Amino acid sequence: MHTVVMIPGDGIGPEVSRAARRIVDATGVPIEWVVEEAGAHMLERTGALVPESAYRAIETHRVALKGPITTPIGSGFKSVNVSLRQKYGLYANIRPVRSIGGRGAGVDLVIFRENTEDLYAGREIRVSDDEAHAVKVITRGASERIAAAAFAYAEAAGRKTVTAVHKANIMKLTDGLFLEAFRKVAASYPGIRAQEVIVDNMCMQLVMRPAAFDVIVTENLYGDILSDLAAGLVGGLGLVPGANVGERYAVFEAVHGSAPDIAGKGIANPVAITLSAAMMLDHLGERAAAEAVRKAVESAVADGSVATPDLGGSGDTEGMTDAIIAAMR
Ligand code: ATP
Repeated sequence: MHTVVMIPGDGIGPEVSRAARRIVDATGVPIEWVVEEAGAHMLERTGALVPESAYRAIETHRVALKGPITTPIGSGFKSVNVSLRQKYGLYANIRPVRSIGGRGAGVDLVIFRENTEDLYAGREIRVSDDEAHAVKVITRGASERIAAAAFAYAEAAGRKTVTAVHKANIMKLTDGLFLEAFRKVAASYPGIRAQEVIVDNMCMQLVMRPAAFDVIVTENLYGDILSDLAAGLVGGLGLVPGANVGERYAVFEAVHGSAPDIAGKGIANPVAITLSAAMMLDHLGERAAAEAVRKAVESAVADGSVATPDLGGSGDTEGMTDAIIAAMR
């Protein structure tokens, strides 16, 4: 029996989390779900976006499946996602982007985004009325750690190439250090091709020939942007899963946000969080179940008759979920 913390979150979070839970339960893998509420609705009730009990549950069980949590704009609250990453040392943001059901032909890449530093370290100062600075923090330790995660994954998954994305021609010291770390790690994987691509060129290459890329490793800001670009290649945010992984803890979540425009309508696409749950099953060592979920998602999306509106269909969350469960059986 595995124990997993389930945080349904805000907006469409509860709808898609319920769907993912039904699908995971249908695999037959025994999971005890510890449901913890967090999000804007808890702020009103408890004064905190993430109540202490949710943090305690993550610390106890170490694995969580999380829906989107909205950070109220202008509230002075730090993003929950950023807080969780820092608090639990979730240094690797892993986003597999694959074409599903014929969308984005041949795309099968995995982005390893460094999650803890870069311009997202939050070191900004307003120097004067007319000037503001942000400090870009790159360390050898964090850069080697994310490169090592990317190469270890590539080796285990039988992948051929790891591409480092950078802008070291301009940011010679920071991105230069990132590349130095990448090259050092690459040297201990002689069987895997290591290549380096400048970020602006990478954007063009990804749009023009996305199928040419395999594993990508990059800094926090470039990774954030490339992930959404890549999601757009395969049918949008409703289809792309993600994981935040550290030494001790792992939080699995869809790339998308709380989608307030469609919340409560029952039409959110449950695929992104379901594929995140499949990554979680892999992490728990339940590889056969994870593969079964991915295959069922592929066939439900390819079928099209149950497609949700974001995929151009007129289906709903429940219909898509039922179709995925039916495909598994
Ligand atoms: P946040 O600030 O929480 O990230 P956002 O509005 O910037 O929110 P999303 O919530 O990801 O970003 O929504 C972006 C667009 O994608 C919206 O139009 C939303 O309806 C759509 N979208 C996101 N996730 C899904 C989904 N699972 N199914 C269908 N549409 C989705």
